[in-house]
Amino acid sequence: MASRRILIVGGVAGGASCAARLRRMDEFAEIFLFERGGDVSFANCGLPYYVGGAIADRRLLLVSTPERFRDIFRIEVRTRHAVRSIDRSIKTIEVQNMQTGAVSREAYDFLVLAPGAAPIRPPLAGIDLPGIYSMRTLQDVDCLQSWLNYHNPARAIVVGAGYIGLEMAENFSRRGMEVTLIERMDQAMPPMDPEMVSPVYQELQKQGVDLHLDTEVIGFEPAADDKITVVTKRNERHMGGVVILALGVKPDVELAKQCGLEIGTTGGIRVDDQMRTSDAAIFAVGDAVEVRDFVTGAPALIPLAGPANRQGRIAADAICGRDAHYRGSQGTAVVGVFDLTLAMTGATEKTLRRAGIAYQKTYTHSFHHAGYYPGAERIALKLLFTPDTGRLLGAQAVGKAGVDKRIDVLAMAIQKGATVFDLEEAELAYAPQYGSAKDPINMAGFVAGNILRGDMAAASWTDWKALAAANQTPITLDVRPPTAVASGAIDDSIRIPLGELRSRLNELPRDKEIWVHCAVGQTAYYAARILKQNGFNARNISGGYTSYKMEGK
Ligand code: FAD
Repeated sequence: MASRRILIVGGVAGGASCAARLRRMDEFAEIFLFERGGDVSFANCGLPYYVGGAIADRRLLLVSTPERFRDIFRIEVRTRHAVRSIDRSIKTIEVQNMQTGAVSREAYDFLVLAPGAAPIRPPLAGIDLPGIYSMRTLQDVDCLQSWLNYHNPARAIVVGAGYIGLEMAENFSRRGMEVTLIERMDQAMPPMDPEMVSPVYQELQKQGVDLHLDTEVIGFEPAADDKITVVTKRNERHMGGVVILALGVKPDVELAKQCGLEIGTTGGIRVDDQMRTSDAAIFAVGDAVEVRDFVTGAPALIPLAGPANRQGRIAADAICGRDAHYRGSQGTAVVGVFDLTLAMTGATEKTLRRAGIAYQKTYTHSFHHAGYYPGAERIALKLLFTPDTGRLLGAQAVGKAGVDKRIDVLAMAIQKGATVFDLEEAELAYAPQYGSAKDPINMAGFVAGNILRGDMAAASWTDWKALAAANQTPITLDVRPPTAVASGAIDDSIRIPLGELRSRLNELPRDKEIWVHCAVGQTAYYAARILKQNGFNARNISGGYTSYKMEGK
């Protein structure tokens, strides 16, 4: 049998992993990888840390090289070659050598599109001024580094406070620069729920980053000494020596559109669960494709490296006749912001509301390892689950150590269709310096399980605030000790420390619902159980006063 000829467009996460997997599956295929940039298989995710200096050697960003692809995998890599068009009727592509300008045609049996996503650059006045950069490729970073080395700017302005914007803000700061961070939305990390991001604002302030939320940039003007003035809609003017645009990405679907492949409703290339496009000989993977949201089932764009790599493998398997299927994307993500870590997996409350999916939520603030072992840090963990069966829908966490590990456990649990009752039973590794005998994952399961079993009625500060705004503030009982109350409390709350509750029950109304809170939810749970068994109608406000402060932004 003649060997099949497989061409791949784009040589980074999706394209490179597809190429390597293809070779492992088919020793005899002819495999060509076309990349218009100068490098293949580089670590885009490491770029911010190269700017900040944590990755000191540029070569470390090159996960693989054309030579390695040739020597180990017998894959022909053509860097600085841009694929210009696809002729599906005769199964060929037109490729331009970007150094010589020469154009050639290459025939394929299968074509894999992995062109990624392009940074969004809105047509704002002055957006092409020197000193304004987007982050996508090693070349982008090389240009940025030369600008920084030559001009040595004192202040960077980062536009967009998503994960790339936050990482860039941190890394400019680590270089010793002042940083202004501007975001159009009223929260940083827009994919997450707003209250889960609020600790970031304190962290940014602590680190000296000048954050402006709810601030839309409308243009850029040149200023003296090669500086740039960033102009906002409210006509504020921020001057810096370098500007980073981190406004999100949009799928690169130019080639796909031009050859008539179907594009999905979200703007990504439409593929089936084997990553096959509307043309059976063409596959597409990575940031350029529309995926199925694993939780909601809706079409989505989820531009992350893990999905791109896995999709590359699945496309290779499908091309080689294997019965591999992509399960959809959960959007599992983690970002470091100086000393904080934020992470998420599955659906957020925002997504669920938009999709009209019923949910219940809980907040816990457990220590990342045994509280008695030095250095224990609390993890704020939000769990979203179905109110009937307790099936997990999503989780978000913020804290210092141990956030990533808990979200990873929950990511797998969601993928396996686990319930909050499974979290109660999860048997996780424990020694004092690593975790707790009741891990934060178990604790989140216990709290959610208590609610679903009817042992404890729950409420959230979102509900409490909505009632307060309508002048119907529920009776609020604070069961923290006086020392804790002294450092901040809800106005007009009844304050009875847990230890005195049994002897002071006569101070509480029996004909009204009592909303109980403590610092993090646990003491209030004990209080709610006492109240319930004494005939009171009580709810525990999830996450306690710690969550109250997070809701306040
Ligand atoms: P890409 O990696 O973008 O590769 C596409 C390649 O195709 C590009 O090199 C492009 O030059 C080439 N190409 C496009 N069109 C053509 C053409 N016509 N001819 C030839 N070549 C072409 N994700 C995470 O999960 N975690 C992170 O921490 C993280 N950090 C990131 C930090 C930064 C600064 C950036 C930019 C991205 C980060 N990402 C992160 C996202 C992640 O890098 C992407 O999801 C992933 O690289 C997508 O892989 P891909 O193969 O679809 O596209």
